Amino acid sequence: MLEVRNLRKAFGTHEVLKDISFSMRKGEVVAIIGPSGSGKSTLLRCLNQLESASGGTITIDGLTIHADHRLRRQELMALRRKAGMVFQSFNLFPHMTVLRNISLPQERVLGRSRAEADKRSLALLERVGLVDKAGQYPARCSGGQQQRIAIARALALDPQVMLFDEPTSALDPEVGLEVLAVMKELADAGMTMVVVTHEMHFAETVSDRVLLMADGHILEDGPSKEVMRNPKSERAKRFLHAVL
Ligand code: ATP
Ligand code: MG
Repeated sequence: MLEVRNLRKAFGTHEVLKDISFSMRKGEVVAIIGPSGSGKSTLLRCLNQLESASGGTITIDGLTIHADHRLRRQELMALRRKAGMVFQSFNLFPHMTVLRNISLPQERVLGRSRAEADKRSLALLERVGLVDKAGQYPARCSGGQQQRIAIARALALDPQVMLFDEPTSALDPEVGLEVLAVMKELADAGMTMVVVTHEMHFAETVSDRVLLMADGHILEDGPSKEVMRNPKSERAKRFLHAVL
């Protein structure tokens, strides 16, 4: 469903991703952990082409991106539909109601009618427990609510895989739990997910697999409990010792 091969990314002479390879099955939930600056966000941003890689290939749901070929606009749109992204900062449109935030992308990207889009938006708001906020503006919602709205907005485009970049790190711990609960439900419902996170409990209990990155490399890749409790490399041991 998702395959990354020999992915490299440099900013100028600074190599941020060095020969990254991994693959994922449909329905798998993979957590990416590792020290600050290790390249986690860059990897995620390469997956949906917010950054273009310097080398290697990425295949998502049958669509292959080669680092040395620029994507045509149509391919880029297709890719963005396949991979929904949720950021640390929720990035909702402040001048639109919650409902409109979720409906507009469906009209623009999928060509759904407004009625169709609204219907789907309300169903998703129900799913994240926020149907009563449909007519509100984002500023009137808490951070945790805004993040759940951002998740609903990404889901509205029927992605094949959801990419999360530290979705709870801008939130108070208690509010973050609401967001993690929605993510756990998504995982239980069979969504394929890549989650960059500092939430070690989430990584250990919700994800099937953990990739531990350091300095642009994947140091560990295995079942969550195994990686978290029995890391092989010294660098991974040091990182986990510091955060657990
Ligand atoms: P954190 O846990 O702090 O979010 P991260 O693992 O997500 O860290 P990245 O954001 O991927 O790390 O950054 C990896 C390295 O790439 C860092 O050294 C960063 O300074 C550098 N970097 C990231 N984006 C850019 C950019 N647009 N231009 C230049 N350097 C960048
Ligand atoms: Mg990051």
